[in-house]
Amino acid sequence: MKQELIKNNYYEAVNKEWIDAAVIPGDQPMMSAFLELHLDIEKLLMDLAKKWDKDQTGLNNHLQEFVKLYKMTNDFATREKLGAEPLKPVIKKILNLKSLKDLEKNMKDFVLDGVDLPFSFMVFQDFKDSNNEVLYFTAANLFLPDTSYYENEETKQQLIGLFTMTTMQVLSLYGLEEEAAQDLLNKALAFDAMLVPVTMSSVERADMIKMYNPLLKDEFASKTKTFNLLKVAEALVGQDVDKVVAMNLDFIDKFEEIVNDANFELIKAWMVVSNILTFSAELTEELRVAGGAFGRALQGIAEAQSQEKAAFYQAYDRLSQAVGLYYGLTYFGPEAKKDVEDMVNTIIGVYKDRINKNTWLNAETKAKAILKLNTMKVHIGYPRELPKYYDKYKVGSYAEGSNLVKEKLKYSRLVQKENFKKYNKKPNRNLWAMPASMVNAYYQPMNNQIVFPAAILQEPYYSLSQGRSANYGGIGAVIAHEISHAFDNNGAKFDEYGSLNNWWTDEDLKTFEEKAQKMIALFDGVESGYGPCNGTLTVSENIADSGGIRCALEASKKEKDHNYEEFFKNWARVWRQKSSPEFMQLLLTVDVHSPSNLRANMQLKNLVEFQEFYNLTEQDEMYLAKEQMVEIW
Ligand SMILES: [Zn+2]
Repeated sequence: MKQELIKNNYYEAVNKEWIDAAVIPGDQPMMSAFLELHLDIEKLLMDLAKKWDKDQTGLNNHLQEFVKLYKMTNDFATREKLGAEPLKPVIKKILNLKSLKDLEKNMKDFVLDGVDLPFSFMVFQDFKDSNNEVLYFTAANLFLPDTSYYENEETKQQLIGLFTMTTMQVLSLYGLEEEAAQDLLNKALAFDAMLVPVTMSSVERADMIKMYNPLLKDEFASKTKTFNLLKVAEALVGQDVDKVVAMNLDFIDKFEEIVNDANFELIKAWMVVSNILTFSAELTEELRVAGGAFGRALQGIAEAQSQEKAAFYQAYDRLSQAVGLYYGLTYFGPEAKKDVEDMVNTIIGVYKDRINKNTWLNAETKAKAILKLNTMKVHIGYPRELPKYYDKYKVGSYAEGSNLVKEKLKYSRLVQKENFKKYNKKPNRNLWAMPASMVNAYYQPMNNQIVFPAAILQEPYYSLSQGRSANYGGIGAVIAHEISHAFDNNGAKFDEYGSLNNWWTDEDLKTFEEKAQKMIALFDGVESGYGPCNGTLTVSENIADSGGIRCALEASKKEKDHNYEEFFKNWARVWRQKSSPEFMQLLLTVDVHSPSNLRANMQLKNLVEFQEFYNLTEQDEMYLAKEQMVEIW
């Protein structure tokens, strides 16, 4: 540790050596503690795939399908020979559309095929009644990553220029003449421009409740008279629909101004361009690389993934939960599972204690918060079950006339049909939203559930060989962070069953909201080295970090061998990151997490224990006066 930096930049004191030595891989926008673990797992899984490619003895059905798909994605000679042909039928179907009415007739098919549409539907738990699945109306993403990119004319021109250049290359490789390609792209961009004013920004989307706008059947129908969406919705779920939840109210309010016969050719061009871009990775090597060029430029990624790696991910991404389950069962044994379970229970216990001792909540709200903790479901390592569509997915082969586009459509049909079948039913709360092989963790507010995949349960987050205090500063803080999401500005609105339901007394809710405002102010405008942090965009994650570190520290303090420095050091260590400037700027605009260096430093600054342990004074950058500290959980 660089002692001279401790008082002014703790993140660098701990990580400077690592940062100086770290090399950003050519096909990544950054290097980080998360990514180091991810790359180890990636190598392990890629080696496994190679082994299974030669010998499938003992593999279950899902993994056998994975190998079949892997063989197809790795058959580069056939992929080159087929060229762009596999995608032609999909694009032709779009080009053959004669009118909006025609699109309406075909929309169900497009949705099931997973073809990009400017608007679509999905079935998901009802915010108001998490025990029931309802229909959500969704709108497509813009070509640029956030509405804010369209606000500054110079930035917009520069990025649209880049998008135009990279997309023209893809359209040309697909086989379009320059003039036809330019015409399509101009029309697609004109439609994209119409979507900008009715698209929610990342900051707006960070407030979950803004995405819940239930409309009764008649109201929904009256807002969408130019296109019989209700009919499409009912065809998709196979029954009458009594309400639709619009995720984006502005879009539904302006629907008829945007989706009408006059704009039909623009919509069609948007669909052609979007789908050629989306499906380019399923075609030749040149198309795959060209199709990723815009994304790489936005993130400052130097080069495309190698052909070998991309082919692995094409198969893995589709069957990741099955491969992840194998990973979890094989590399994360029952012993580690038990140890982490104990740790989670200890932390939940400390959390309850802290709520009982909390000085700003009334007894009534405290009891409800503890009830929420008592009913919280904890999932560790790997899931109990996988989505049912995995059982139905049978991969074909080139010899049988299949290709990667057909495989993608077939898989999408299974996933979509299963999704729409859930309509008006009870959700299956055992399913996970990420594979066990992913280095991450999450809280799902509608299930009041925390999930820790096996992949994150490793050093530096967690290890039997590092001290307990280091483990509490790593995985302990991650666990308490996820628990805190139950009580962040979004999670706090959901009750113990995961339904949107106010369980707060008015007085406590007011205090909580004032505290959340203070958290916004604490982070807002703080310089990250690549631009200022947006306090509103990152408030939910900052509340979770703040609750997480406090609770984990208290759990650590209860240990006989508690060591403050070990705890603080590992907290700062897990946030080590070296990134391209482009990636950092992108994250500042769209990511609900604060930049890593601020997550490390600001949360430590905001702790009395940290201030006292290092005897910090006003002269130190890491100093924060007690009256400026924001403590919520
Ligand atoms: Zn989080």
